[in-house]
Amino acid sequence: MTYVEHDPRFRALIQPSARLECLGSGLRWAEGPVWFPMLRTLLLSDIPNDRIMAWTEQGGLVPFHAPAGYTNGHTRDREGRLVSCEHGGRRVVRWEHDGRITVLAERFAGRRLNSPNDVVVAADGAIWFTDPTYGILSDYEGFEADPEQDARGLYRIASEGGEPERMASDFVQPNGLAFSPNGRRLYVAESGSSHDPSVPSILRAFDLDGSGRLRGGGEWARVEPGPPDGLRVDAKGHVWCSAADGVHVFHPDGDLLGRILVPERVANLCFGGSRGHRLFIAATTSLYAVFVNARSAI
Ligand code: MG
Repeated sequence: MTYVEHDPRFRALIQPSARLECLGSGLRWAEGPVWFPMLRTLLLSDIPNDRIMAWTEQGGLVPFHAPAGYTNGHTRDREGRLVSCEHGGRRVVRWEHDGRITVLAERFAGRRLNSPNDVVVAADGAIWFTDPTYGILSDYEGFEADPEQDARGLYRIASEGGEPERMASDFVQPNGLAFSPNGRRLYVAESGSSHDPSVPSILRAFDLDGSGRLRGGGEWARVEPGPPDGLRVDAKGHVWCSAADGVHVFHPDGDLLGRILVPERVANLCFGGSRGHRLFIAATTSLYAVFVNARSAI
């Protein structure tokens, strides 16, 4: 069984005859998938192995880059450049078209970031990222260190660059994040239940006002079994979120529509494929994919 329906509206989003496929395995902790349409290539992190993997239909899953600074979440910016969160360097970087790496953020208020986890580009070109402590808790996914920040924050880097601005500081561990198609709502996963079961496994929803400030931020949906990690929003505003048992799909009104069950704990996902309607799923030791009736908002 691949699909669990919680709401009849789920049926329009899946391809019932399409099965979950395992595209490759042998990873230690798969994270940060990102699709490059022009290259027909998926990149993803294998964090404890300190490498970035690449998958193509022709070549399968192969090592792409190592050492990789213990990268975690990735995204593409508006110019098609790769933006990476690094646990090792405790920074957010951008890969330029000529191969050089530009550091976008590594400090806030003069102190080192914890370990940037996931990243997304807003409609105005600003780069938003989360900064929990997972990458400095041990030497497994980075380098063990004491946090220098007084919070595990949500940050924004303006499109013109400069110092990051802390936009929220009341998370236990902020994690995956994604914008609604109109860019006016930001969903952020609270994954603090990974180390403290008393923390609710939730997605929080913030609304952006006209000046780019955040409002709200309350619980938008529960993700059980959690914790939620990476998430994506499709072109119609549905939220596709990682969970311990697979991928949970939510209507923009917050209702759980259904689940795609995956045999391993899911950390992150993205839309891709030549027509954008293939869901790639980074799940512990493996990369999975399934064709769906949805595509990325961008
Ligand atoms: Mg994450």
